[in-house]
Amino acid sequence: MRQKIVAGNWKMNKNLDEAKELIKGIKKEVKAGIEKGTRVMIAPSFVNLQSAVKKTQKSIIEVAAQNMHQSKNGAFTGEVSADMLINLGVNIVILGHSERREYFGETDALLAQKVDAALGNGLEVVFCFGELLEDRKSENHFKVVENQLKKALFHLQKGSFANIILAYEPVWAIGTGETASPEQAQEMHAFVRELFAKEYGKDTADTISILYGGSVKPANAKEIFSKPDVDGGLIGGAALKAEDFAAIIKSI
Ligand code: PEP
Repeated sequence: MRQKIVAGNWKMNKNLDEAKELIKGIKKEVKAGIEKGTRVMIAPSFVNLQSAVKKTQKSIIEVAAQNMHQSKNGAFTGEVSADMLINLGVNIVILGHSERREYFGETDALLAQKVDAALGNGLEVVFCFGELLEDRKSENHFKVVENQLKKALFHLQKGSFANIILAYEPVWAIGTGETASPEQAQEMHAFVRELFAKEYGKDTADTISILYGGSVKPANAKEIFSKPDVDGGLIGGAALKAEDFAAIIKSI
């Protein structure tokens, strides 16, 4: 089902004490005024997931991981498996974030394996994709996005998309203060929905949730969320302050 979702990606921010404080703040803020049915997710670092699961137990807040390894287990020093996440009570994982692609060399082929491992273990996936500034300048952004989605996701059966949330994140808008205009976001989201309609049918296209990410703030969230194909946001910087994150959630 197409859902309204606001997810906060905390990246490598907040130690345990700070994470607990932020969760406390978000819980207080979201108690009132959230439109019914909106899903709220936070993605702290691996080391703070266990505490986050415990602290959010009696709230609407869902906890996601920012990454995971594609293998079941084994000699992969420093890595975390899908089973470890599930066992902690974490049911969602973000995959394909542009920082993972850029700094850790994650390719579409690797992401296809990660998506399979996540879904196979019962995790829901927030799958990120988006073009670089040079792709947009050279007007290749649609082609780039199409390729990312085809290579990482289009091997899946139609039914898998019940457990996938898409997040369009133009790389030039992440952490830069520069936001895609609501029209640019809508244009890409509509394009992606059309791709899914062609590949998997209109029912899949009409039910998949597509989030926008890239410098969403309380000041611009409402306008972006008002676009018909934008189902919510993946929020970086503004998710680190309870009041800002709550204001964004309330803009949906
Ligand atoms: C992100 O990293 O997913 C993101 C959208 O970051 P920011 O909101 O800071 O641009």
